[in-house]
Amino acid sequence: MRCAAKVTRRFVSKNVVGRITIGVLSLQGAFREHVEAFAALGCATTLVKLPEQLANVDAIVLPGGESTTQEKLLDSSGLREPLVAAINAGLPTLATCAGLILLAASVLDGRADQRPLAVLDIDIRRNGYGRQNDSFEAPLTIDEIGAAAFPGVFIRAPKIERTGSVVVMATHDGVPVLVRDGPVWGATFHPELARDNRIHEKFLMQCS
Ligand code: GLN
Repeated sequence: MRCAAKVTRRFVSKNVVGRITIGVLSLQGAFREHVEAFAALGCATTLVKLPEQLANVDAIVLPGGESTTQEKLLDSSGLREPLVAAINAGLPTLATCAGLILLAASVLDGRADQRPLAVLDIDIRRNGYGRQNDSFEAPLTIDEIGAAAFPGVFIRAPKIERTGSVVVMATHDGVPVLVRDGPVWGATFHPELARDNRIHEKFLMQCS
């Protein structure tokens, strides 16, 4: 029985990776690491910097980096509106760290002019772990990807301080660190730096 489940899982994953292309927003930040994680899974990616490049992707990744810079570049590139429309229309989205700040309903310690995309029902604090604890690693329990702990890499991580209509997939010290609303996934840590591709793989399995 266990064997059968494993075979099915591999089949689904292999079937999906061969026919989809993941767009990776590459305005700023740690986008190359996501490209490498998907490449390791055999999945094609394409960099997205312009609105027209959104048209041919089956999913989008919003990487870590600097949310304020990324937000400005979303506006100057004209990507903000089409990206919001695509996500609201059901485009699978994997957002990590700064990328998750972009998706939030509200950024609690945002700059006065910060205007997140408001496509995920969470409120977030940009520098939620403060200076002393701004980078750390912690093993995370994520039932959906299996029993083995996932190495959570937190770098100037934001802290989710309110969750609305999202599913909490993992917590650290009682605080949500991985959430999803259907096909829209957000992590306050960096799965692309973990040398463990189970989150990317699981995300892929719901793309078609
Ligand atoms: N705190 C950063 C910000 O506000 C995010 C840090 C990260 O992406 N590693 O954008």
